[in-house]
Amino acid sequence: MQPDITALQKELEVVKNNLTKSYKDQQSATKLLIRRDIELSRANEKLMELDSAKMEFISVAAHQLRTPLSAIKWILSMLINKEFSTAEENAEFLNKAAESCDRMIYLVNDLLSADHIDSGKEQFVFADVNPKSLIDQLLQDTAPLRIKRSISLDYKIDKDCTVVGDIEKLRALFQNLFENALKYTLQKGTVTVRIGQGVGDTHNMGHVMFKDSGIGIPKDQQINMFSKFFRGRNAMKVDTTGSGLGLYICKQIAERHGGKLWFESEENQGSTFHVLIPLSKNNQSAL
Ligand code: ADP
Repeated sequence: MQPDITALQKELEVVKNNLTKSYKDQQSATKLLIRRDIELSRANEKLMELDSAKMEFISVAAHQLRTPLSAIKWILSMLINKEFSTAEENAEFLNKAAESCDRMIYLVNDLLSADHIDSGKEQFVFADVNPKSLIDQLLQDTAPLRIKRSISLDYKIDKDCTVVGDIEKLRALFQNLFENALKYTLQKGTVTVRIGQGVGDTHNMGHVMFKDSGIGIPKDQQINMFSKFFRGRNAMKVDTTGSGLGLYICKQIAERHGGKLWFESEENQGSTFHVLIPLSKNNQSAL
């Protein structure tokens, strides 16, 4: 009996199609595997980077805590061995120990805030906020320090506004920038504070500016300003207590609001920090 050529050809065609399909399936599975492999390698690299950042964070934090802790230990052992000869000397060194404790509390608070922000644990509760009321309060609270250092204040509201923000986070952000302005301005300097609105592309943002006539930031160090633990050479001479975490936290806060934080500075001339935070709809419709 003659084989049915047409039927065989059809069968062959089906086998060929099946083979082509499995070849294509296999090719796309290979591509998928290669893509997954690349993704896994990238995720692994990212994890290694995070791990080394975490280790560096712990190492720098431990070093920063060691200085005040050693000072306290040294003062305590002097007290135990009755090495201070007068009551005044006693009081003076106890005050120094208390200052070291304050420094550690300040540092630990900054470390916790930076860690909360990094790990996404920090909750942001957004509502309408009036920057002016926050800044009025801040200026009032810091007036004794400002007056003690004979620093003049130039405060003006170019335009009152309402932004969308987490009130406590914005308070911390403004406080950090204002306290830095006071801290890094020498006696009899001036700190300028302005509240207004952005212009051009940023017209839908509230704008707060802190300008000082202080020590400024050396040009070659400006690139590091928002890095964790960064402290300028000149700043360390003026103030030995900083953690170098404040600006890092401020930048994260501004960005979590969909806003921006940046600065301009000239060494020995002063610095200007700008914050932009999105305006509330209530504010925009009132314009
Ligand atoms: P800290 O003030 O605790 O050192 P910050 O993160 O707030 O930490 O600031 C980091 C560094 O940025 C400071 O050590 C200082 O070198 C620089 N800096 C911040 N604000 C100013 C300012 N207004 N004028 C000059 N330098 C500043």
